[in-house]
Amino acid sequence: MLRFDIITIFPEIFDSYLGASLINRAQKKKLIKVKLHDLRKWTPDRHKTVDDRPYGGGIGMVLKVEPIYKAVRDIKKLKRVDKRKRKIILFTPRGKQFDQKTAYSLSKLSHVIMICGRYEGVDERVARHIADMKLSIGNYVLMGGELPSMVVIETVARLIPRVLGKPKLLKERITKEKGFIEYSQYTRPEIFSSKKKMNWKVPKVLLSGNHKKIQEWREKHKKVI
Ligand code: SAM
Repeated sequence: MLRFDIITIFPEIFDSYLGASLINRAQKKKLIKVKLHDLRKWTPDRHKTVDDRPYGGGIGMVLKVEPIYKAVRDIKKLKRVDKRKRKIILFTPRGKQFDQKTAYSLSKLSHVIMICGRYEGVDERVARHIADMKLSIGNYVLMGGELPSMVVIETVARLIPRVLGKPKLLKERITKEKGFIEYSQYTRPEIFSSKKKMNWKVPKVLLSGNHKKIQEWREKHKKVI
């Protein structure tokens, strides 16, 4: 079972997401486990301070290294695994772009710890000394690492056999290079028409029942992600 531990100052953001749909089912089936950790738990002062002003000045506050260091240290103890089976991810727009191949390699691990930044970011010593990977989910700047961590959980979880329900079909969609094959899909009705001269048809080959021809059509219309 792949365990995700998320370090955040807003654990409530995840409530509905983790409780719904296939991600909820995957947890119930014990295919994945997701645990949330409020970073404030690792602060020594009564105000539970997680941030401070940046050296050199700047527009926002920066998450401190100390609580993150302690959180990661304690969370590692929750799952004893070979260190090759664990990755500590820091989300930052300056990180490596998250993609399908990275998701595939994460799906083979046992433990993923994710650090969600906020405000003006995270003390750079977390990137330099604590994180194994710095990931960005795209070339834009969000307010926090919570959405990126949900993106990673969802992309990785659907690669775990039985999360989507048909392990054999899932295998067929993963390429040798660990990309994912996507193609156009249609469902009933065969012809959709809601006004005169409207005639939106499903390609005939998909209705033929001829598996070889369907495969050829899909091959022609596929995109590898
Ligand atoms: N100045 C910070 C930096 O360069 O890393 C970015 C601060 S951003 C306003 C606040 C937090 O949102 C970041 O620390 C990061 O965790 C998250 N974040 C924002 N955009 C992101 C992206 N494209 N990919 C991943 N995480 C992102």
